[in-house]
Amino acid sequence: MLPRKTDVVVVGGGVIGSSILYHLSKRKIQAVLLEKGELISGTSGACDGLIFLQSKKPGPHLRLAQEGTKRFSNLKDELHFDIEYRNSGGMIVIENDHELEVMERFVAEQQKIGLDISLLDIDQAREKEPSLSEKIFGSTFSPLDGKVNPLLLTHAFIRSAKKLGARVFTDNEVTGIALKSHQVRSVKTGKGEIETTTIVNAAGAYAPEIGKLVHLDIPIKPRRGQLLVTEPMPPVLNRGVLSAKYIAAKFDPALAETEGEGISIDQTSSGNFLLGSTREFVGFDTRTTHQAMTNIATQAIHIIPQLKDTHIIRAFAGLRPYTPDGLPILGNVDGVEGFIVAAGHEGDGVALSPITGEVIAELVDTNITPISLNEFRLERFNS
Ligand SMILES: Cc1cc2nc3c(=O)[nH]c(=O)nc-3n(C[C@H](O)[C@H](O)[C@H](O)COP(=O)(O)OP(=O)(O)OC[C@H]3O[C@@H](n4cnc5c(N)ncnc54)[C@H](O)[C@@H]3O)c2cc1C
Repeated sequence: MLPRKTDVVVVGGGVIGSSILYHLSKRKIQAVLLEKGELISGTSGACDGLIFLQSKKPGPHLRLAQEGTKRFSNLKDELHFDIEYRNSGGMIVIENDHELEVMERFVAEQQKIGLDISLLDIDQAREKEPSLSEKIFGSTFSPLDGKVNPLLLTHAFIRSAKKLGARVFTDNEVTGIALKSHQVRSVKTGKGEIETTTIVNAAGAYAPEIGKLVHLDIPIKPRRGQLLVTEPMPPVLNRGVLSAKYIAAKFDPALAETEGEGISIDQTSSGNFLLGSTREFVGFDTRTTHQAMTNIATQAIHIIPQLKDTHIIRAFAGLRPYTPDGLPILGNVDGVEGFIVAAGHEGDGVALSPITGEVIAELVDTNITPISLNEFRLERFNS
């Protein structure tokens, strides 16, 4: 049964809501998480787990990611759970002259702000990853990148939060929020009402629906990503690999139209390869398409020829919570006291989950955050 009252209600049982719940509980703040379906049934259960710094443009996004990445090294011990975090570094594979030109500029920008990243020629790249094709031009390499299992990470946050006293209710859709004098008073679900003065909207691609309940316009759209899963293979790849085209698709959709979407390749701890993923605006449609699967498989074999001998055992799609400027929306909002947004992490929510949980918990607790949230506020879209 839902409790009558709590300090904070977190909406959404994905990696972001779970991290916030854990970090609130660590501060001894009484918190309840409400999830409309099962835990990890949204994007956090249909994604990859790469933690890449080098894929981010210098600026607030990279600064947030740098803070976030630092948190991962201690998380396994803190959560007492093997979240399959590997500080393995990451590479961006370059496949032609044009990409080399773009990536030289990209790397120079990253180096200017002190990021540990270098350009490798084909021999150096293949020395690090011998399975890479002889036909590639080279790659970037950053030792700062890593990877984690998003399902285990979310599960570990929830498990630790519960141990600290947090309560979690699945199959409980938030359908209403009561306000009094522009201040949050309670949260309603089909199964009851909880009195609270603080609600955190961590509903991912569904965050706009929660915003509407308090008449806020939250500009998040679902951006579909399709992924293929291979059968398990013996260890072939040591670290996550992106294609340079993927960077283009992320930052410059016009470039992606001429260059193609690009892919990410990762071999998980269990040996399966995760090959992905598209960046499509098709509403809430989570179907996979033959065209995308063929395109991803073709590109993957081009980069790692050995993959042509393996079988695809599964394909699925998740919905990245996209914002128009690529930054998540974090923090309090003007005009509705006690309503906090923590959503819109697009393709980086797994990587940014520990830092998001930490800053939101600190905001709730002290109203001050360790890093400024000014650039992440919802109000940036008003001007
Ligand atoms: C193909 C793909 C690959 C990706 N790869 C990476 C990667 O390598 N690295 C990385 O960092 N990120 C990656 N991402 C992005 C990452 O998956 C997302 O940013 C992250 O999962 C978002 O988490 P979330 O908790 O905000 O959303 P979700 O996991 O979607 O959680 C939101 C939850 O809110 C619930 N909810 C919605 N409405 C209500 C309501 N009214 N009441 C109660 N509950 C509600 C939903 O059911 C859902 O479970 C990838 C995404 C995709 C699709």
